Amino acid sequence: MAQRKPAWLRAELSGVDRQHHAVHETVADRDLNTVCEGASCPNREECWSQERTASFMILGDTCTRDCSFCDVPTGSPSPPDPTEPDRLAGAVEDLDLSYVVLTSVDRDDLPDGGAEHFADCIRAVRERNPETTIEVLIPDFMGSTDALRTIVRAGPDVIGHNLETVRRLQGELRDPRAAYYQSLSVLEGVKKLDETIFTKSALMVGFGETEAEVTDAMDDLRGAAVDLLTIGQYLRPSADHPEVQEYVPPEQFEAYREYGEAQGFKYVAAAPTVRSSYRAGELWVENALD
Ligand code: SF4
Ligand code: SF4
Repeated sequence: MAQRKPAWLRAELSGVDRQHHAVHETVADRDLNTVCEGASCPNREECWSQERTASFMILGDTCTRDCSFCDVPTGSPSPPDPTEPDRLAGAVEDLDLSYVVLTSVDRDDLPDGGAEHFADCIRAVRERNPETTIEVLIPDFMGSTDALRTIVRAGPDVIGHNLETVRRLQGELRDPRAAYYQSLSVLEGVKKLDETIFTKSALMVGFGETEAEVTDAMDDLRGAAVDLLTIGQYLRPSADHPEVQEYVPPEQFEAYREYGEAQGFKYVAAAPTVRSSYRAGELWVENALD
């Protein structure tokens, strides 16, 4: 039977609005995409109201993969747009961002998985916005070290790659081309290439996983030297997506946060409405990572 959203989640989703419109207009003017809209994230008002932080989705709005929990459309995307790096750098400049998150759909149709285009975007943003902290949320590039090296050489401050769920549920929820150990090796690979880059990952809960399965995943992420972690509640984007098995209570998120910080993560953002880029700029400053 479908689970009803508990009161704590309904209250947190009510949001606020300030610079929301500026981000929305810039995204439209520059013909950009955001994962916030692509994935119908419920935190848009809150995140887009934060001063000087925004999150963009590059390489199109159509993904070559089909993860059952995700609301980004699956299909055959268009070739990368060579004007995108410049438009993106201009948007970061227009909004005077101090922190930007660049994420992408998976582009298994491209020989390099889109790594070179991703790197062009990082370099363009850096060149015109040298003071802006750049976080990227990358695909697994099917485990390609060459693609990972291309991203690392472009010099982002934070490289994220999401484990998404516990080991047992990977096959059920993620596209078959994704895999638990492949994702861990992407994160480990970043540190091997450049240990000064911060690494980040994200887990969703509410799929019926146990607490021990979540803490095992956290241990594995620390084993891969991951620095930053977000844990949030899975929310079903539509009736075609898997049902929520459990609304995990706030106390359980707090227990995960405490566990993770004791294991050595530099921060663990864990709460029902947390998503991988949620409050990324604020947490960066709060935890004195700059
Ligand atoms: Fe966008 Fe992430 Fe905020 Fe959701 S949590 S609105 S995806 S920045
Ligand atoms: Fe969504 Fe999966 Fe594509 Fe990521 S790889 S955008 S989670 S379908």
